[in-house]
Amino acid sequence: MTTNSARWRIRIDSRVCVGSGSCIALAPDHFDFDAEDRSRPSHELTDPDDALLTAVEMCPTGALTIVDARTGREVQP
Ligand code: SF4
Repeated sequence: MTTNSARWRIRIDSRVCVGSGSCIALAPDHFDFDAEDRSRPSHELTDPDDALLTAVEMCPTGALTIVDARTGREVQP
């Protein structure tokens, strides 16, 4: 049976994020800046969204990972 109930978790490696803001520009519903001007997820979990996949692809430092919240498997990259 196929379900459409997948939820994603965004992981950001704050040691790698340089605060370029690219992810915030590409997926503003999903990211904002923390007090140290590094990106952080706006929500713990999110519905699947192609804008997130684009944000992962475009992150200049590879700081972003998207995982399936239920299985923990990487969705992207
Ligand atoms: S695109 Fe990558 S480096 Fe830039 S703010 Fe987002 S996570 Fe950080």
